[in-house]
Amino acid sequence: MARYTGSVCRLCRRENLKLYLKGDRCYSDKCAVERRAYPPGQHGQGRKKFSNYGIQLREKQKIRRMYGLLEKQYKNYFKDADQSKGVTGTNFLVLLEKRLDNTVYRLGFAGSRSQARQLVRHKHFEVNGRRVDIPSYLLRPGDVITVREKSRAIEAITDALEALPRRGLPSWLELEKDQFKGVFKALPTREDMNLPVQEQLVVEFYSK
Ligand code: SF4
Repeated sequence: MARYTGSVCRLCRRENLKLYLKGDRCYSDKCAVERRAYPPGQHGQGRKKFSNYGIQLREKQKIRRMYGLLEKQYKNYFKDADQSKGVTGTNFLVLLEKRLDNTVYRLGFAGSRSQARQLVRHKHFEVNGRRVDIPSYLLRPGDVITVREKSRAIEAITDALEALPRRGLPSWLELEKDQFKGVFKALPTREDMNLPVQEQLVVEFYSK
């Protein structure tokens, strides 16, 4: 599968926002956005004026990069959100939040979404007692996510759990840290998600 192999910090600099793609480093003074708060490349410090299309495109890319998705997959989520009842933008974000890899990250079982994806693929998690190794698996309210017993000593998982207080646990999730167990309690509302994004611009981008 095609994937981005360049520097992920460049992605944050392009969006002028911390996307938290690198775990611990994102909370240190080594963060590239804090050191060089301008877009990467030769003309990064030049004057920037975006068209409407450019603004919508940047917002679309920002969210896609935050969740680490490929364009095709991302657009499919948008189509599903558009066909569901309710506000398309909110539906879209909820779909992204329901992914298993995202929830593993949010619960503090991984330092970043990309690390969460790798841990899921390596079969370290169960959902409702059954092993699931599909990062895009969509959770439903009431689903219980556990780290498999043999995986509980993995340093990446224990380190990430220790660091969780720094970013906080979202209100729609519950964590029993000692049990290595989390619950996807309910679908988040837009307010719960507290994301620094304007999803309406993504709706406008794809509705052209
Ligand atoms: Fe983004 Fe983290 Fe790199 Fe900072 S350290 S630029 S937040 S990936």
